[in-house]
Amino acid sequence: MICISGKASRSFHPIIGVVAKSHRPLFARKNTIFVTDKLDKSSIGYKACISSGRKGYFFHPDHIYNCKDIEILHDGDIVRIDATGCVSVLWEVKSHQNAFMITEACNCKCIMCPQPPRQHSPQLFQEAQYTLSLLKNKYIKQICITGGEPTLLGNNFIEFLHRCINEHPTANIDILTNGKNFSDREFTRNVAQVATNNVCFCVSLHSDIDTLHDNIVGANGSFSKTSIGLYNLAEYGCKIEIRHVINKYNYHRLINFAEHIYNYFPFCIHYAFMGMELYGNAASNKEEVDISPLDYSDELSDAILYLKRRGLPISIYNIPLCLCKKEVREFARQSISSWKNLYAKECDNCDLKKDCAGFFSTSVSLPINHIKPIKGAL
Ligand code: SF4
Repeated sequence: MICISGKASRSFHPIIGVVAKSHRPLFARKNTIFVTDKLDKSSIGYKACISSGRKGYFFHPDHIYNCKDIEILHDGDIVRIDATGCVSVLWEVKSHQNAFMITEACNCKCIMCPQPPRQHSPQLFQEAQYTLSLLKNKYIKQICITGGEPTLLGNNFIEFLHRCINEHPTANIDILTNGKNFSDREFTRNVAQVATNNVCFCVSLHSDIDTLHDNIVGANGSFSKTSIGLYNLAEYGCKIEIRHVINKYNYHRLINFAEHIYNYFPFCIHYAFMGMELYGNAASNKEEVDISPLDYSDELSDAILYLKRRGLPISIYNIPLCLCKKEVREFARQSISSWKNLYAKECDNCDLKKDCAGFFSTSVSLPINHIKPIKGAL
């Protein structure tokens, strides 16, 4: 999430609103946060303001002043401001990679999780619901519902999904889940009753071996529950993507994993092999989990080609093109959210930069020593 900061005009509860960088009529200011270089007499009637200039007067709404980098905000963005002076962008109008994080709680504790679980905060869910309200009647191409584990919210998750579908019937909706709660058939049936063809369940599966998967996700019995969840989702006609995060524990079994998903889960609409973001738990456990994509490029290539030959739809996410073997580069996608996407200086000399995932700016270390600008076509 993009965050910029300044100083709060006074102590106030967090305020969420839609960014306007030019004045709105008085009747249209209720949910609007006005962004300006300078607060003046006309900066009234808004829900709040953000200014790069000096502190306003008593008649101005609650505001953040001396705010740096306000130029990164766009008309239509949805932001939250709080009394610490922080401006967080909850929804970027120009991005197709926006997500609703509806809980930080999780029933796994993945060794490489970039977003370590926390206790559920009802406020986070309320913020997501309110943000969704502000998006009503806007054209939204892509929605991601994530956590933590979003299905832990049970009926609230189903109602939120239902709202996303009703209010944005043409949007593609991805649900990032560990799939364990779908081992409950009744829950799966209830979710499937609201899910349309635009909804995809992106289920994490990190090994073909039960004990290895359970070890990676830090919870015994997870492999079995996720596998049952995948079958239940399939039985109720849900679209499924399997996501496999490659790390030091599982890279040597990539071909076995490919065989496993081909043999046991050939019904998914997509399979993604993903590089790690070295952030959160992955950063804390760096010695244990980190491996350069260059060091598993043979294994990755074998797995991808195995699935390609069998006609399964596959992608490689978060891995720079020059760290993939040439024969599988066609499957590598530009997958990293723009706000945390980074390229090395050398990338400017690369003919494929615009198609390359590059790196996570959030990672504590990057395999940039291994990169090699590519000349010519893919
Ligand atoms: S040189 Fe940079 S842009 Fe080119 S493939 Fe490597 S990481 Fe990507």
